[in-house]
Amino acid sequence: MFGGKKLERTVTLRRDVVDSILSYCQIKHPNEGVLILKGKSKRGQISVNGLVIPPFSESGPTFAGFPHSFLPFDLSYVGMVHSHPSGSAEPSVTDLHNFFGLVSLIVQFPYKDESIFAWDSGGNPVPLSIQPEL
Ligand SMILES: [Zn+2]
Repeated sequence: MFGGKKLERTVTLRRDVVDSILSYCQIKHPNEGVLILKGKSKRGQISVNGLVIPPFSESGPTFAGFPHSFLPFDLSYVGMVHSHPSGSAEPSVTDLHNFFGLVSLIVQFPYKDESIFAWDSGGNPVPLSIQPEL
């Protein structure tokens, strides 16, 4: 873990974005909720500063998704977040197949700050931090 010079990918979420994600997941429970993450990416540092409700999204207790082809091409879309009402924080095979953007966040039940996990397209964990209110 030490001395690695590899570019580490990290994700920073704004406090109000975290609150919005958590309340959206609570509203959708027991179904999965899915949202698009808006933000910026610079040298592996992804900062999320907004959310978009995807068009034509579908969700059920074990599935949440949206047809990517309906999305407008937008460079500010850095990834997506969805909830796992079952309580698992790990991405499913389907999640990895439907990977969108740079990072995928999964929020496990019961949807607290500590329930949010970030993953890359290979299913590897990405360190996540919450930016305090300015
Ligand atoms: Zn999932």
